[in-house]
Amino acid sequence: MKPDIHPKNFETVITCSTCGTAWPTRSTRQNLRVDICSNCHPFYTGEQRIVDTAGQVDRFMRRLQTSQSQQAEAARRREEKNKPMPKKPSLLQEIYGEETE
Ligand SMILES: [Zn+2]
Repeated sequence: MKPDIHPKNFETVITCSTCGTAWPTRSTRQNLRVDICSNCHPFYTGEQRIVDTAGQVDRFMRRLQTSQSQQAEAARRREEKNKPMPKKPSLLQEIYGEETE
């Protein structure tokens, strides 16, 4: 190696913050952290799982729930609006009761 042109190379550890697996390596940076690794990524494990990064799935589910409840509320209001009005008794019936014919 030519002197004074290469970056400093450390013996370091890569740590997965999801499953906690750590493996040694050499790198110009120290104490590397990764969000997901081959030990826990669904592609390698073969399991069906949603990898939630920064609460994206939670946020989507909250939005979905909000929109569904709004739609249900709108449908309820629409139904209430389209309901036929109760028949009003005539003025005579209101004054004299049911026996006016
Ligand atoms: Zn992992």
